[in-house]
Amino acid sequence: MPSRIWINALLSVSDLVCEDRLNHASLLDGGWISGARFAWYGHLDHDDLDLQLASDANRKLVVSDGTFSMDGDRCRLDDLIAVARRRDAWVMVDDAHGMGVHGPGGVGLVDPARYTVDDVQVLVGTFGKAFGTSGAFVAGSEALIETLIQRSRNYIYTTAMPLAIAVATLASLAILRDEAWRRDRLEALIARFREGATRLGFTPPPSTSPIQPLIVGEPQAALDMSRGLEERGCLCTAIRPPSVPEGTSRLRITLTAAHTDADVDRLIGALEEVRKASDDETRTTQHFGSTFQ
Ligand SMILES: *Cc1c(COP(=O)(O)O)cnc(C)c1O
Repeated sequence: MPSRIWINALLSVSDLVCEDRLNHASLLDGGWISGARFAWYGHLDHDDLDLQLASDANRKLVVSDGTFSMDGDRCRLDDLIAVARRRDAWVMVDDAHGMGVHGPGGVGLVDPARYTVDDVQVLVGTFGKAFGTSGAFVAGSEALIETLIQRSRNYIYTTAMPLAIAVATLASLAILRDEAWRRDRLEALIARFREGATRLGFTPPPSTSPIQPLIVGEPQAALDMSRGLEERGCLCTAIRPPSVPEGTSRLRITLTAAHTDADVDRLIGALEEVRKASDDETRTTQHFGSTFQ
């Protein structure tokens, strides 16, 4: 929702918006309803981005997730900024999954000690992930914020965040800033999970975030595994097209600082059992092909 609001207020028909192929749906919607010319670039493919930006559009905006919500990998920000600068484009980062999790004090990918509004002109964060509340914010120059307040129809005509949510969000902010051990804990759990999954023969994609997808392939296989895990006490959703590209249905494992080592070990044990059950079935139905990646 938040990005729908901001992009729409910033761009119009004579402009260009370039988006990573795997951006969150709200970023795509924002680009589409703005009326600007919309261009994709390949996931993290900044050479492709460079090509797309070679345009005489009035204003150009590059939009990327900070941490990608289905793969857990991260935007290569320095590179993205360099390309955008060369092509005279603005950068907008939606760091919904990075804030509270990555960077010193949980500042996320766009560390204010390293980047200014000349590097990332529009920074979006949401409160529904690490903060555990709801709502979102945009950060940028005084002029940007004033423009959004005056021009963003969706913002102007929507009820403000309830006070209780704002206060809860402030409390979350204090916890995220002061209790670094939660991030250390999360990091240890991520490493434990990846090691265990690798031992089982899975190849977890290169994600250092709490989003740890296991690509299964076909939608039914992902659903079956999700159900098998649930029977063993592990709630782990299956993600299928159109949320992810065809052939990459997956289990989306999400770790939190509240999990224990024993929880992760139990998940690994359950994965082993579920995979074995699936392998047996594969053999009996004579259905060949690589189910696991
Ligand atoms: C989850 C998410 C959102 C949506 O946030 P809501 O709090 O549900 O509005 C927006 N952008 C990204 C990148 C997300 O991961």
